[in-house]
Amino acid sequence: MDITLQQVSYAYAKDTPFEKKALFDVDLNIPSGSYQAIIGHTGSGKSTVLQHLNALLKPTEGTVRIGEIEVQGKKKNKQLRAVRQKVGIVFQFPEHQLFDETVLKDIMFGPMNYGVPEAEAKARAVELVKLLGLPEEVMEKSPFDLSGGQMRRVAIAGVLAMNPEVLVLDEPTAGLDPRGRKEIMDLFYRIHQEKGITTILVTHSMEDAARYADRIAIMYRGKCVLQGTPEEVFENETRLKDYQLELPQTVKFQRKLEQMMGRRLPILCLTEEV
Ligand code: ADP
Repeated sequence: MDITLQQVSYAYAKDTPFEKKALFDVDLNIPSGSYQAIIGHTGSGKSTVLQHLNALLKPTEGTVRIGEIEVQGKKKNKQLRAVRQKVGIVFQFPEHQLFDETVLKDIMFGPMNYGVPEAEAKARAVELVKLLGLPEEVMEKSPFDLSGGQMRRVAIAGVLAMNPEVLVLDEPTAGLDPRGRKEIMDLFYRIHQEKGITTILVTHSMEDAARYADRIAIMYRGKCVLQGTPEEVFENETRLKDYQLELPQTVKFQRKLEQMMGRRLPILCLTEEV
């Protein structure tokens, strides 16, 4: 399922004295099956774009296409429920959204709310607990008795239990230590590869974008100023500086190596720790 933003502009509190324009003519095409990073500093418009990806926000101007479904500002659209099922969002600190008595019930809540039979919802929960590397005993525990890292995994399982075609990750490693960050990012990468799920990572980390994404879009002051493959986006260091961004350490290291070799390489992410 491709997602396309075409000339999307968005203003918060439109037509009030508090109107705040957050997006300006954003064009972005996210092909089905890709791993897309959306990068930018705080306030650049990443969260606003993110909320358009499953129609939580509708564009003030322009069009968002999510698979076959077209979302436009003023048009009523009965298909939005279907969109929300197909595009799962893992929000920042997703563990704050846990609420049910047991881990099992929490993971089953979303699918059952969408009419998935109980046995099927349970089967999905069992599979996901395993996939996310959680011990089986957590199933009957209260999510609030788990460690922070485990709680985050349960919350992620709850999003995956909807069988989304697209998974949007909003700074999914916020608050984790370096080891926890790598574990979670590697896990998402594995899910992307194994399930062929389109993955959209919203981040301010150039390192994570370099390491995992096959497409990168850069947001700057509400505009999508650059997009392409990592090779294309990292090609021009001066241009990145215009947007107050630095080449990732891994790519800097690679550029030095390339100078010594006298030729360019594909982006390799050469160091283990960044
Ligand atoms: P990012 O996710 O990159 O930090 P945002 O999309 O949150 O950026 O914000 C883009 C712009 O929109 C910022 O100037 C921000 O202050 C503004 N903004 C974000 N949310 C709201 C809101 N609910 N009401 C008014 N302005 C907002």
